[in-house]
Amino acid sequence: MTDDTRTNVDDVEEQRVRYDQARYVEDGQYEPLLSEKDQTTVEIGDSDESPLPDDLTRDSLELPGLSEPELARHYTRLSQMIYGIDSGPYPLGSCTMKYNPKFTEDVAALPKAAVHPDRSETSVQGSLDLMYRLQDYLGRIGGMDAVTLQPPAGAAGEFVGIRVAAAYHEHNGEDHRDEVIVPESAHGTNFATAALGGYDVVSLPSDEGGRVDLEALEAALSENTAALMLTNPNTLGLFERDISEIAEMVHDVGGLLYYDGANLNALLGRARPGDMGFDVMHYNVHKTFATPHGGGGPGAGPVGVVDELAPFLPAPRVRETEDDSETASSEPTYELFDPDHTIGKVHGYQGNWLVLVKAFAYIARLGDEGLLDASAKAVLNANYLASQISYDVPYEPFYHEFVASAGDQDAADVAKRMLDYGVHPPTTKWPEIVPEALMTEPTEVESKKTLDRLAAAFDAVAEEDDETLEAAPERTTARRIDQTSAARSPRLSWHELADDE
Ligand SMILES: *Cc1c(COP(=O)(O)O)cnc(C)c1O
Repeated sequence: MTDDTRTNVDDVEEQRVRYDQARYVEDGQYEPLLSEKDQTTVEIGDSDESPLPDDLTRDSLELPGLSEPELARHYTRLSQMIYGIDSGPYPLGSCTMKYNPKFTEDVAALPKAAVHPDRSETSVQGSLDLMYRLQDYLGRIGGMDAVTLQPPAGAAGEFVGIRVAAAYHEHNGEDHRDEVIVPESAHGTNFATAALGGYDVVSLPSDEGGRVDLEALEAALSENTAALMLTNPNTLGLFERDISEIAEMVHDVGGLLYYDGANLNALLGRARPGDMGFDVMHYNVHKTFATPHGGGGPGAGPVGVVDELAPFLPAPRVRETEDDSETASSEPTYELFDPDHTIGKVHGYQGNWLVLVKAFAYIARLGDEGLLDASAKAVLNANYLASQISYDVPYEPFYHEFVASAGDQDAADVAKRMLDYGVHPPTTKWPEIVPEALMTEPTEVESKKTLDRLAAAFDAVAEEDDETLEAAPERTTARRIDQTSAARSPRLSWHELADDE
């Protein structure tokens, strides 16, 4: 190759600039909307022939008249402006952002998975079979006796679990119980769930080691305790070593023990909340069982309970049909039923069905050994990564996640800067027990090479000054976003955008 034809660094830089320009339109906006790219009038028929009122009908429609490549490029460009689980490591602590295997998408895309929710029970026996088996898998994984698949998220599962606990207490003539105890280090949804469930929230301080303070728990428990909500391992990644004693203390005052299943990834195949004394739990299938999440869902948050609470679960659930007629086939059949004292329906139909299909496929493919392997590697990866970074990790020994401290740096700035190194940052500023928390969960799916890359990004940022951190990110499509305004006053239509201009 001669110098003339060789692609030199400048050419590459120019190519990058051209590529960047292609991603933005001139006025500084990002990729235009399809409707801004083209508007073509399409005739759709004669509205006079419609029985609907005139103001509800039209003869033509404005649609983007774009070719398939133009459409494909639009969505590809959009996909390149964000960082997703398929872009690189995503060590968002507590969220368990593990890779979502594509085979589960194939399973969910099978024509047979596309059942209409109004079809008769007898015509959807396969779907009921899957739900029944998923209830069974989850029950066995969590050590629970009965499971509902309806709740659409972990937080929704919490709410169902607490409603079930309330119904149980009420059924036993114990509706004076008006307190739910939540450790300081818990996820915000636990406090919200307890409050929304109508309970007074009793906040429990941690002991010096970062676990439940038994003396504080003793003081908080009373005949008014409805439940204690716990995450185990907790949000510092620490296992509550006194869990049996904690369960006994809660049960002694007649309270129930709630398990927040967000950290189940650390326990898969090794330990079961039911065996620890928990009475009710939710599963974040979009975390532990690798169904897609982020961007607001959909997810699924099935709830498992011990026998005593099963009659209060949401309706309907799936069970095997009892058929003792002589013509009964050897194949089990399934039916929907309402538990005796059900709290009612909490979701349309059976919950987020295709998410449940993916979770089922994932568990079935991994099997006992695979689940065991997942938890082993999740713990190994977290411990390896922590050992490779220079930020201090104050609480040990941790399992599938750890909370480092950014020290004098602002954890949110650290996170923004990590994006410039091409990796996703950890969860920041929570739990508050660790100053400037960097809550990190690499998950079991990352290789040593990727973990080393991640560690290098942490360490590079650890060396940088405040000015650099505050200016970050420099290399992402969107820079510092006003997240508060975005959440408080979302613009949900391009008409609003146009009106602003
Ligand atoms: C994610 C999470 C929740 C809430 O679950 P969602 O599925 O996001 O609603 C609750 N507790 C903990 C510890 C979590 O990490």
